[in-house]
Amino acid sequence: MARVLDGAALAAAMKQEVAEEVRRLGEQGVRPGLAAVLVGHVAASEIYVRNKVQACAELGIYSDLITPPAEITTEELLALVDQLNARDDIDGILVQLPLPPRIDSKILLDAIDPAKDVDGFHPVNAGRLLAGRPALAPCTPAGVIEILKRSGIPIAGRHAVVVGRSDIVGKPAAILLLHENATVTICHSKTRDLSAITKQADILVAAIGRPGFIAPEMVAPGATLVDVGINRLNTREEFDRFFKGDARREAAFAKRGSTIVGDIDPKAFEIAGAYTPVPGGVGLLTIAMLMANTVRAAQMRRGLPRRGL
Ligand code: NDP
Repeated sequence: MARVLDGAALAAAMKQEVAEEVRRLGEQGVRPGLAAVLVGHVAASEIYVRNKVQACAELGIYSDLITPPAEITTEELLALVDQLNARDDIDGILVQLPLPPRIDSKILLDAIDPAKDVDGFHPVNAGRLLAGRPALAPCTPAGVIEILKRSGIPIAGRHAVVVGRSDIVGKPAAILLLHENATVTICHSKTRDLSAITKQADILVAAIGRPGFIAPEMVAPGATLVDVGINRLNTREEFDRFFKGDARREAAFAKRGSTIVGDIDPKAFEIAGAYTPVPGGVGLLTIAMLMANTVRAAQMRRGLPRRGL
């Protein structure tokens, strides 16, 4: 029976540590602050940002939710980022993606002060991460490492295969695994004979954006499967492909009219040694890491020592 790497329990433990750190900073008169910028009305983004703001409230972190209309221009957003860069009560700036296509996301993300870049997307932080210097690492890949470490899954010397090479997930996940002394292979859409490579993985990280793409026959029995993907299934046909006969999922699907599947076919979990479920896996650690990064940014900006986080 594969072991479930329970994101909820791991995220709760991590949030408790962050809350403790916030309390300690409070004793020094410091309250970490996060500004979340949510442009327009994208339903999924609204949920993500709401969860982030809620997590701040739970942990004692100050948050400022800024919701410009979808019509805002790149120049106006740049002016907003400048203001946030200058505010002393703000340690972390998060611009929720995706932005409206008119807006140049790269210019905007590059305008965030790297010291406040809690998403870890700024090229300065990407460079620091690559060079193995202390940096604000992107939250989802950092969450992947936290799950593995906190679950006692050995990384050093293991073959980690990362499928996906985006700047926000696949690439930084591969770098972080390398820093943990894994032997790392990065795969992408041009990789030849993908399954021959994924089958060699002791640790397989899937960050592809295609529902259930990693089939059971692409996985070695006993491997650790880390599923980063979040894909919404809206039709009965899609649902049946993965979850036919699953009573718990049936009930959820009947209630909401949709359900979520990762990038790994859930049938592959049956032959794994350990796996992160979707939902309830990597996604929850992403928010916990954002909170940890906000505290880290507050400490780094003031030259305060970092503790365990
Ligand atoms: P991107 O679309 O930016 O990147 C997808 C990657 O998958 C690309 O590198 C692409 O290769 C690769 N890929 C696509 N098709 C194939 C294929 N047939 N074979 C091999 N590789 C393929 O996605 P993201 O990295 O932003 O996100 C990945 C997934 O993670 C999504 O499901 C997203 O929703 C989820 N996600 C989850 C988060 C969480 O908190 N849990 C946070 C962020 C994302 P190529 O480069 O060649 O095009």
